[in-house]
Amino acid sequence: MRDLLDFYQNAPLLELGLEADRRREALHPHGVVTYIVDRNINYTNVCVADCGFCAFYRRPKHGEGYTLSFEQIGEKIEETKALGGQQILIQGGHNPYIPFEWYLDLLRYIKAYHPIHIHGFSPSEVDFFATRFRMDATDVIKELQQAGLDSIPGGGGEILVQRVRDQVAPKKAGADRWLEIMELAHNAGMKTSVTMMYGIGETLAERLEHLERVRAVQARTGGFTAFICWPLQPENTPTMSHMPRTDAMEYLRTVAISRIVLDNVPNLQSSWVTMGMKVGQMALRFGCNDFGSLMIEENVVSAANTTHRTTTHEIERLITDAGFTPARRRQDYTILAGGGAAVPTATADTVAA
Ligand code: SF4
Repeated sequence: MRDLLDFYQNAPLLELGLEADRRREALHPHGVVTYIVDRNINYTNVCVADCGFCAFYRRPKHGEGYTLSFEQIGEKIEETKALGGQQILIQGGHNPYIPFEWYLDLLRYIKAYHPIHIHGFSPSEVDFFATRFRMDATDVIKELQQAGLDSIPGGGGEILVQRVRDQVAPKKAGADRWLEIMELAHNAGMKTSVTMMYGIGETLAERLEHLERVRAVQARTGGFTAFICWPLQPENTPTMSHMPRTDAMEYLRTVAISRIVLDNVPNLQSSWVTMGMKVGQMALRFGCNDFGSLMIEENVVSAANTTHRTTTHEIERLITDAGFTPARRRQDYTILAGGGAAVPTATADTVAA
């Protein structure tokens, strides 16, 4: 850990990048960089978790609070499919007014009338459901899965060190619980992604602790398909708007060390939505093999005034200009027919082997 910390903190930027690029190349030797077309649907912004870094949520009874109807969600899915979208990412606040049956009915409704891959309900939401509905988290996951949930996103991970979470998100699933729920999901046969939002008052050593903890779960389960990191977007947040915005160098260093530590997580996504196109493109030489998603809708980051928009053509140009072959993928990182070079991408299984 001390060596890695020294490398993260002190190595010249390009040395870090070179090592991360070497690791990326070993995992993805075909020179393909993938991306996905999807839509982020935030079914409700009502939340009682009060995370200090969140510009998206509204307290119960706030005039701007909303919960989407099934029909509104169905319409968004149809628009997504019409644009070639492969999945929906469905997440929301911890809304105390929604009964558990609503979530199950929603999943069944989507699968019956608007079938698509459903990547939804982060560990924080699963933990909220378990507490609110007095259920075991294993049963929450099982029921969601039986109703149609396909995979779980890594939302709400922030920094998986309790000291940090106690300061910025004390009402949300703690570090141990967040990882426990991911492990339960993996054991139930679901794949998940994993994230890290940094720049919220943690030390560099705590970022490494986060990565090491993810790596340890992955060594047991092999269930993480991808890792994504991005910095705090401080604008409009309840208690963190005074925090300094971290820069591109910090992002590239963090992406690179993540690629180096997480040698058992197959895919690393570049976060062009928060960092912009050019930095997102540079991240492809600092360990990332995926350009993330062409999101049709994104509410959480845009609530903090940080939204970069693009087209598939622009994404493919950026990937090509960085020296890679672009390929459109599914949620599980398999490549779509006609979506680029017909080569296999690494999967959790192939990496674990
Ligand atoms: S980050 Fe999620 S859990 Fe936290 S306040 Fe925002 S919507 Fe609620």
